[in-house]
Amino acid sequence: MIDLRSDTVTRPSPAMLSAMVSARTGDDVYGDDPGVNALEAEAAHLSGKAAALFLPTGTQANLVALLSHCQRGDEYIVGQQAHNYKYEAGGAAVLGSIQPQPIEAAEDGTLPLEKVAAAIKPDDMHFARTRLLSLENTFGGRVLPVAYLAEAWRFTRERQLALHIDGARIFNATVALELPLSSLSCYCDTLTICLSKGLGAPVGSLLCGDADYIQRARRWRKMTGGGMRQAGILAAAGSYALENNVTRLQEDHENARWLAEQLQALGITVSQHTNMVFAQLPPEQVAPLQAWMRARNILISAAPVTRLVTHLDVDRAALQQVITQWKAFLAAQ
Ligand SMILES: *Cc1c(COP(=O)(O)O)cnc(C)c1O
Repeated sequence: MIDLRSDTVTRPSPAMLSAMVSARTGDDVYGDDPGVNALEAEAAHLSGKAAALFLPTGTQANLVALLSHCQRGDEYIVGQQAHNYKYEAGGAAVLGSIQPQPIEAAEDGTLPLEKVAAAIKPDDMHFARTRLLSLENTFGGRVLPVAYLAEAWRFTRERQLALHIDGARIFNATVALELPLSSLSCYCDTLTICLSKGLGAPVGSLLCGDADYIQRARRWRKMTGGGMRQAGILAAAGSYALENNVTRLQEDHENARWLAEQLQALGITVSQHTNMVFAQLPPEQVAPLQAWMRARNILISAAPVTRLVTHLDVDRAALQQVITQWKAFLAAQ
């Protein structure tokens, strides 16, 4: 199977599995799991924050992040298409009574600060209390400009807002920019990172922040059912991923660029950012292309704008097959 639906589909490699098998474990709810403690320390170190927390999923990491920043009746400003607004089942509102204030992102994935400023509520009993700005980096594969992050940081300091970054794919940004994580995470209070996407771990996300914040987050993680016991087996995969699978994201970006060029050569309108390619399909091709590819062991989520995601389980040869089959599909139309 060649699976281009997402970078979440990556499977643990034999070397990662062997790191998991040889993990020393303890009970992480007691703070006793050496593998989890090492992973959390490494995440804190890389992000330049005082502490970090290991959680089962990115959705839970974002939920716990919002619960730890905001009280009932508070509000967070977030992108209309952001994962932690649109794709997390409304968790912050449902479980935290935290009101989202979504605003439309600009073409480059930033939330224009004049729009953010206009959405901040005055201190008045009619309104929810605006507490937090949440940004997503990368957003649809787009790397947010560092100058924008710096500006958003200053902006939130002036207005006493917290700044959270949903950095599910933050390492795609650091690799694309050739910068260390700390040079992006210095512009936020808190950061979530997914280990289970392009980094290739089977499970796991990290939330980074200051010590008091992470202590609060630990309680919310327990409350939301994320306190795992011998989680060192999973943390070992995460540590392996941080050590071995970050710089190789560059290959995924190069593969995505190559795929985009090949599709363009077939007359398809495409855009490409880091490990994501967006291909525009005529509506009548959507269902037939999906079926054609499926019959040839290629999985895509066909849509009028089809997102194709490269990752460590698809190499150039696999992408060549995709192009060969796509060409054959077009010839058969
Ligand atoms: C994948 C993703 C998450 C979290 O997803 P999980 O599947 O819950 O791990 C959060 N934010 C963004 C931007 C994502 O892409």
